[in-house]
Amino acid sequence: MPFLDDLKMYTRFVWGLKKFLRHTITLKEAKEIVKKRLEDREANFLRLVRKGIFGYPKSPYLPLLKLAQCEIGDIENMVHKRGLENTLRSLREAGVFVTFEEFKGRAPMVRGGKVIPVEARGFDNPYLSHYYEASSSGSTGAGTRVAIDLDHLAALTPNIMLSNDAHGILYLPTCLWFGTLPDNTGIENLLRGVLFKNIPCKWFSPITKKNFRPALKNKIATHCTILSGRILGLHFPWPQPVTLDQANQVAHWAKNTLMAHGPCLIRTHVSMAVRICLAAQEEGIDLTGLAFVIGGEPPTPAKVGEITRTGARFAPSYWFVEAGIVGFGCASPVDNNDLHFFKDRLALIQCPIQVPGFDIKVNAFCYTSLLPSTPKIILNVENDDYGDIEIRSCGCPMEEYGFSEHLRHVRSFRKLTGEGVTLVGSEILKILEEVLPARFGGSPLDYQLVEEEDEQGFTRLSLLVNPKVEIRDEKEVIQTLLEELGRSSVAADLARTIWEQAKTFRVRRISPIWTNAGKFMPLRLMERVLSPDQEDDKIKT
Ligand SMILES: [Zn+2]
Repeated sequence: MPFLDDLKMYTRFVWGLKKFLRHTITLKEAKEIVKKRLEDREANFLRLVRKGIFGYPKSPYLPLLKLAQCEIGDIENMVHKRGLENTLRSLREAGVFVTFEEFKGRAPMVRGGKVIPVEARGFDNPYLSHYYEASSSGSTGAGTRVAIDLDHLAALTPNIMLSNDAHGILYLPTCLWFGTLPDNTGIENLLRGVLFKNIPCKWFSPITKKNFRPALKNKIATHCTILSGRILGLHFPWPQPVTLDQANQVAHWAKNTLMAHGPCLIRTHVSMAVRICLAAQEEGIDLTGLAFVIGGEPPTPAKVGEITRTGARFAPSYWFVEAGIVGFGCASPVDNNDLHFFKDRLALIQCPIQVPGFDIKVNAFCYTSLLPSTPKIILNVENDDYGDIEIRSCGCPMEEYGFSEHLRHVRSFRKLTGEGVTLVGSEILKILEEVLPARFGGSPLDYQLVEEEDEQGFTRLSLLVNPKVEIRDEKEVIQTLLEELGRSSVAADLARTIWEQAKTFRVRRISPIWTNAGKFMPLRLMERVLSPDQEDDKIKT
């Protein structure tokens, strides 16, 4: 009964929203919350495992723990004797981990020759209450469910407050350039602003009526949320459509705000910040005094160069959608993407993983959630990102707050990322291997998607098509690719909306690339790793 389910969901969400909108957190309280969470890490982890896994018979982790012959008592003993991270490493060695594809319900878990079927919903936290479900599964039944859970939103806020305070940007007049539901970045930023008493004064959305039709329930949810806030006297802005090629409108907001109020802040994705800065450069607008909080993609030197050229500054943020914010830029960084890890809410270990199609291994990140408000129960879950964990004294306020670990050189090795949109790699494989050969000829070995960065720093997804395949109009190939993405799932349709505007896809008539070992991978997302300046990313094998 989808209608009844939706009705129940709205009621729960609006009920929670009323309470949420009346609540605020001071900086002092945020510091105390983080301090307490850091002290209670192990106890919080054990509580979540006890209740969310051993107390939940449908938990997909139970078969893994059974195979590892591990009971709750064993985990408790291990944590007390050897600490949290060592326990997680032992569990991983015993097969208790989940790959990103498994976590998304796109592949069954296979451990010790046993196949354990799993679906993405299986990882949902069974104890969530006031959530709004932004995105439902697509026709393949393998879409992404992303919930806005108000308790989770509140739990992330102290991290955001402390990190923003470290950069002196917490209370600056703020503008958002984020999509509307089912993309939940915009609405979450709006709601979070309530908690620390700095509601964004402007919200631009790259999702417009012309390029995307959100489901009715998403439109209702956006309206309900904004109206609920306004009834309570909160100045929630309505989202104003601004497509990627209208970035100058956002630059004008910054120019006017800088003149009227002084320093201000824009929260958006990395590439969209680049677009704003290119528009500002074209119109000769000086953005000194403007700060960006950017995420969604690695802030590469080319992208960052375009931002800082305008006089603006930036702070990177790093998210794992299902877990929330993972890290935020150090206030005295050694490079563009030097992040402090939020270990009060998450635990992180690394494991060497062979990159598909390349003869290299990377130190993949494997996450565990610690707080009861987590939307998904996450126990040693890979998110297809890798990087370095570094303990270093930087002297910035984040260190003082207890965030001693730095994350460096964070990259993704299996996800398609561009313009702040991320897609599970397997989502596009069917198109490359089946749809395109059937429509334009050739075999699955004649098509390959390569992630590259162009001269201006924008991420491009180049579709290599073997010159042997006769194609009359390359635009038709891209059109087919986009249309198929739109049909695949809600998440893929959102990606299509942005990538179509950004002209992210391009066709190159060259033979697909094979590895030295003679392997062929339809997706090559690691070109950058193989460039000479990124040699350090490799683990020597
Ligand atoms: Zn720092």
